Amino acid sequence: MAPQIKYTKIFVDNEWVDSKSGKTFETYNPHDGSVIAKVAEGDKVDIDVAVRAAHRAFHRNSEWRLMDASERGRILQKFADLVERDAKYLAELESFNNGTVLSFSHSMIAMVLPVIRYIGSLSDKIQGDTVPADGEVFSYTLKQPVGVCGLILPWNAPIAMFINKVTSALAAGCTVVVKPAEQTPLTALALAALLAEAGVPKGVVNVVPGFGKTAGAALTHHPDVAKISFTGSVVVGKEIQQAAGVNNLKRITLELGGKSPLIIMNDADLTVAVPYAALGVFTMQGQVCIAASRLYVQSDIYDKFVEAAVKHARSIKIGNPADPTTQHGPQVDETMMKKVLGYIEKGKLEGAKLMTGGKRVGHEGYYIEPTVFADVKDDMTIAKEEIFGPVQSILKFDTLEEVLERANSTSYGLSAGIFTTNLNTALQFTKHVEAGTVWVNNYLKIDPHVPFGGFKDSGLGREYGLYCLDPYLEVKTVIVALSKKL
Ligand code: ADP
Repeated sequence: MAPQIKYTKIFVDNEWVDSKSGKTFETYNPHDGSVIAKVAEGDKVDIDVAVRAAHRAFHRNSEWRLMDASERGRILQKFADLVERDAKYLAELESFNNGTVLSFSHSMIAMVLPVIRYIGSLSDKIQGDTVPADGEVFSYTLKQPVGVCGLILPWNAPIAMFINKVTSALAAGCTVVVKPAEQTPLTALALAALLAEAGVPKGVVNVVPGFGKTAGAALTHHPDVAKISFTGSVVVGKEIQQAAGVNNLKRITLELGGKSPLIIMNDADLTVAVPYAALGVFTMQGQVCIAASRLYVQSDIYDKFVEAAVKHARSIKIGNPADPTTQHGPQVDETMMKKVLGYIEKGKLEGAKLMTGGKRVGHEGYYIEPTVFADVKDDMTIAKEEIFGPVQSILKFDTLEEVLERANSTSYGLSAGIFTTNLNTALQFTKHVEAGTVWVNNYLKIDPHVPFGGFKDSGLGREYGLYCLDPYLEVKTVIVALSKKL
């Protein structure tokens, strides 16, 4: 049964309002392309209203600013309890709106609960230093919230992205205006309602659904927004970096795309490496920034690996994401489906060997078969560009030195992985590969305790881990002159 759609309006000052223009946009179920709901379409004027609310809530005398840090933490822990209470509904809503298979949506909620609890627990651990400055002075630093934050979300993991960004901003004491992706506005609205229920004062969290070029751009240009945190494509990330400097100097965190290399050495345990490599590229139909989209397999085991990878891909169960036994659902929309099919055609044209998959499944919804290409070369489009689809590209290499060079020959640097039973090989690889996260004998593991972010064009700044609040804080230095007389 379809989950109930409870919220479709703009959320400002803890209230639900229509867009000023009265406009709405349709949001779809990727399983069959049917319209799920009409959602208020926010534009510049609605962003202005939301930013004003967030700005009021950030005033030095506001309830939020005067609240004890430990109380902020308690509100976030309450929020975690509410997300846990509504876990089933949230997982179903996410799956319904973006096509993530239900079983994975449930795991995603299980993954975000520790994120809220971990980040929430940092609220009252924001501390400055006392500094031994020269002279008769007492010097110390204060860490203070940066201000109103614009949080721009992607469509691939809307709940996880909302939670990571919003809880970090709130734990730091900021106020926020969230702009969910136009494809997937529903779970952000449901989570905003839970934050209000948890006790977040009005104006602290505002959510404005709308499009990137209108609502998103209004947020990135707004002079009263102090910081933008964005997860999405490199192209838009670069636009945001520029927009952030037009009307004021916004702090920015960017978590962008990847073309992550996964290396399988001759000595790897293939019973572990083959399923991990598949998980790395087929999870969420390949719509993950950390997808293992360049799979380098060492020459001695290459043929054996390809055979096992093909067998694995063929065993993946495709179907309606709402069916709990489904392993592989649809791409998020028709545009993305066509883009991925275009890459598959390019792969064939440029001489990669299609081993399995490669086609759309049926005529309804946006399904693509898990696809495996062998004999992929570094200069082929499918080995260079981010596909964001279920396409495993398998390349061959001979030595660690060679594969390191090839792995690093990209403008991306989000993540990387290696499967080997040789410690020296693993440590050499982790030292030299240019990536923000490196997995050894596993892949895709994200954990709130460890920082996450990209090298090179894959991003700017880090999320998660002990530093996750730093991008939402300013450091203030205080120097007090001491009287020489005691
Ligand atoms: P994808 O390519 O994965 O669809 P995008 O990077 O285009 O992702 O979009 C991610 C988020 O960024 C969405 O919320 C989208 O509305 C927003 N967005 C797109 N273009 C802009 C822009 N020019 N300014 C601000 N936000 C934008």
